[in-house]
This record gives sequence, structure tokens and C-alpha cells, in this order.
Amino acid sequence: MTAAFDANGAAGGPEAAAAGAVDVARDFDIAIVGAGPVGAACALLLARVWPDPARILVMDARPAGAAAGDPRALAVSEGSMQLLARVIDTRELVAAPIRMVHVSQRGHFGRTVLAADEMGVAALGQVVRYRELIAPLEAALAASGVNVARPVAGAPVADGDGWRIELPDGPARAALLVHAEGGVFERSPAADEAAPAAHAAANGAPDAPRAEAGRATTSAARVRDYGQTAVICEVEPALPRRGWAFERFTRGGPLALLPVDDGERMALVWCAAPDEAARIAALDDARFLAELGNTFGSRLGRFRAAGPRHAYALGQLRRDTGNEREVAIGNAAQVLHPVAGQGFNLGLRDAAALVAALAEGFGAAPPADAPATAAVVASSGDPIASPGLAAAAAPAFDPAAALARYRAARQRDRDFVLGATDTLARLFTLPLPGMSHAAGAAIAALDLLPALRQPVARALMFGLR
Ligand SMILES: Cc1cc2nc3c(=O)[nH]c(=O)nc-3n(C[C@H](O)[C@H](O)[C@H](O)COP(=O)(O)OP(=O)(O)OC[C@H]3O[C@@H](n4cnc5c(N)ncnc54)[C@H](O)[C@@H]3O)c2cc1C
Repeated sequence: MTAAFDANGAAGGPEAAAAGAVDVARDFDIAIVGAGPVGAACALLLARVWPDPARILVMDARPAGAAAGDPRALAVSEGSMQLLARVIDTRELVAAPIRMVHVSQRGHFGRTVLAADEMGVAALGQVVRYRELIAPLEAALAASGVNVARPVAGAPVADGDGWRIELPDGPARAALLVHAEGGVFERSPAADEAAPAAHAAANGAPDAPRAEAGRATTSAARVRDYGQTAVICEVEPALPRRGWAFERFTRGGPLALLPVDDGERMALVWCAAPDEAARIAALDDARFLAELGNTFGSRLGRFRAAGPRHAYALGQLRRDTGNEREVAIGNAAQVLHPVAGQGFNLGLRDAAALVAALAEGFGAAPPADAPATAAVVASSGDPIASPGLAAAAAPAFDPAAALARYRAARQRDRDFVLGATDTLARLFTLPLPGMSHAAGAAIAALDLLPALRQPVARALMFGLR
């Protein structure tokens, strides 16, 4: 039996009322821990293909709307925009298009430009503020028929062939547990290549218990601390260039400027050694803007205003879960350096691939809009079938086979993005003789050779399959 929850996690709705009790054990097919952008998108994509969305449970430790203060701006790739368009009206997002990406190295001549025109697309991606992305996802979730329980810090416990979950109104069970509780990198003095898994803290909910209690012992994590901190804020350049994003590599770490809103403002991600980042973040506005101009150069004129500054420790975490009834997606599976803006994009592809693997288990007939779907798959790498599966009869749900398909499907893309961001995060900062010249030469080669540039841009837009 399925209970319905309102946005505050209280049981209610006609089924619960008909049952006359809310402490009846409820069976869910799938429980998703975390309704950040990846968990929410996963639930919404699932709701389109699952025979009964009410058999899906999503929990979040924070109440709806709690992400309203998140300061991040996300570069959302063209492939991710196509996936998001399946679950929300992306035309209503406040989004600034990226048509050109200018890549350079401070103190060296090499530079290259990735252009949307060259890729045959109107934009390489869009910049959307985290808070402005999560709001329509939360609204869509509330209307999706999926059970949303929040604020509930999910700590499911393995129980026989499923998971036992304590909800405010009583226990529930789920056959498959999806970790989507995300988080950001958290620096530990002992953090090293082989440090334990607990470095990704629940983002925005540092005191919330994480779902570690429910993790299988097969979960393994690898952690690398980059010894960098990102200072982020929004800035206003005197000479804005609409549609342009900039990535500038410095000896301290990369500095990115992304257009936001109408392109008059830009989101800054300035990476530097932790003590240098602390110094930069504490500067008064005038000094901060002057140092930014000095580091970035004069391409956008003088920087004349800066918003509140926030700092994020930077590292990479990869968690592989081998359990047959448990899987991690998004930042729960991997935390990346923000260079090249890939974390959310990779996580969204995790979500899409998981839903495709689960839906495939039904062996349903192709949906009515199959031709259109096939076209989107071809262009975006999105393997998800469209609505129509929901009407199909549901054979027995076999998470183990679906997870095996999922892990095989995701390996290449994950390995590539983790490897590429790791290289970019460190290459320009390595104190090796000639290294910055070699890195500059690599940028110059990229500029000269479209045959190299285009696959790079395509991989950033759509990932690797
Ligand atoms: C400075 C910076 C810049 C970035 N820029 C980009 C970019 O340009 N492009 C890009 O693609 N990515 C970017 N990223 C990465 C991006 O922010 C993340 O990859 C993305 O937010 C991951 O989404 P998520 O849903 O997996 O996790 P989160 O966004 O961390 O969401 C996790 C959710 O789970 C909830 N939760 C946590 N613990 C529990 C629990 N125990 N029970 C229930 N709920 C729980 C939280 O409340 C939260 O709602 C950037 C990151 C940083 C730090």
C-alpha cells in the first residue's frame, strides 16, 4: 500500500485516509535520498516511465525552498538542457546562453575559443543559478504523483532484500535505494588519496545525519584534495560580452567567468590555494575587483561591482557502490572540481542512465513518440524512453540486473569526466619545469586543430557514451 505525503513530509491524501491509519508499512519500489537537482530530476524522469509514480519515494533533509540561498551558478550543457526539458519548462528558466568559451592561461600566449556555431548548435549550454533551477524541479515534483517526504534526513537500513526507512509517520520499505544526497567537498587535515568516504558533507545541511548508516559495505571511495578553494560571487564587468564564458588558468588554479541573467553580470569562480583564497575573499570590494582585473586581464574592461563572496573547498571524491540494491548518482557518486562546470551535468546523465536501465527492465514496447525520442537520443545521448512505458504492464522489478546495466553504461563517461577535470584542476598548477609551457602549447594546439576541439566540445556538451 502506498501513502501520499505532502511537501512537509506529513502523510495524507486519499489512500492514507482510506486506510484509516498512517503507520501501515508501505512498500516502495524505489527510494531516492536527496532531492537536489540530480535526485529531483531522477525522480521526475522515473515518474514518466514507472507504472505507478506513487511507488517512488523521495526524501530530502531540508524543507522545500531551502536551497533559495544557494549562491552557485551552474553551466548547464546543451545535453543537460535537453534532459531537463523532459521534466520542466526550460523556457521559463532564467538562463544565460553560452555561445563562446574562451580558454587561456595567465602569463602565456596560448588561447582557444570553443564556439557554438562550430558545433552546429545555438548555444553550448546555459548558465542557471542553482536556486533558480531547483525551484521548478521542486514544483514539478510536488505535481508528479511521486511521494515527497521532507524534511526527512534519510538513513535507510539494509533489511533482508530491501531497505527499511523510518518516516515521520512510521516505517516504510523500498526495494532499491538511490543515494542522491550530494554534498560538496569537505577538507579534512588527513584527506589524502585513500581517505575514507566521509568528506562530502550534506550541502546546506551540515548537521543533518547522512545516509551512511544505510550504505553497503561494498561502497568504496577515493578522495583527492586539490589544495584549492573556490571563491565565488557575481561581478559586473564594464564591458560585458553577451554569450561569452571565460576559463583562465593561473598558477593558483582556474578562474572562470560565466554570463548570468542577460549577460551584464557574470558568475565568478576563482580558485586559489586555501590561504590565498581566504585572503581574496576577505578583501574589501575595491581591492577585490582590482585584484580580479589584474588576474583576469582586460578583456571585459574594469570590474565595477561584486556581490557577496562564498568559499568552497575543492577536491574530487569518487564513490562506487557495488550493492545489488543500492546505487549512488550525482554528487553522492562523485564530487568534482568545478573546472569546466561538469558536476551537475555528469550527475544528470547518471540520473538519465539509471532511469533508462530501470525502464529497460520492463521490456515495454516502444512508446508512441518513439521517432521523436530516437532523434533526441541521437543528438543528446539521452537514452530515456518517453511516456508510454507507464501504460505497459509491469513484470517483476529486478534492481540487480538494472544496476548492472547502469554501471556498465556509466563507466566510460564517469571515467572520462573524472579524469579530465582532475587533469585540468592540477595541470597548470604543477611546479614542474616547463609544465606551464607544455600546458600553453596544449591550448594552442586545441586552437589550431578543430579535429581536436570539436570532440572536446561535444564531450563537454553531451558526455561520453
Ligand atoms: C563552486 C561550484 C561551482 C559549480 N559549478 C558547476 C557548473 O558550472 N556546472 C555543473 O554542472 N556543476 C557545477 N558544480 C557542481 C554542482 O553544484 C553539483 O554537481 C550538483 O549540485 C550536484 O547535485 P546533487 O543533486 O547531486 O547534489 P546537491 O546539489 O548537493 O543536493 C543534494 C540534496 O540532498 C539533500 N540531502 C543531503 N543529505 C541528505 C540525507 N541524509 N537525507 C535526505 N536528503 C539529504 C540535500 O538537502 C540536497 O537537497 C559546481 C559546484 C561548486 C561547488
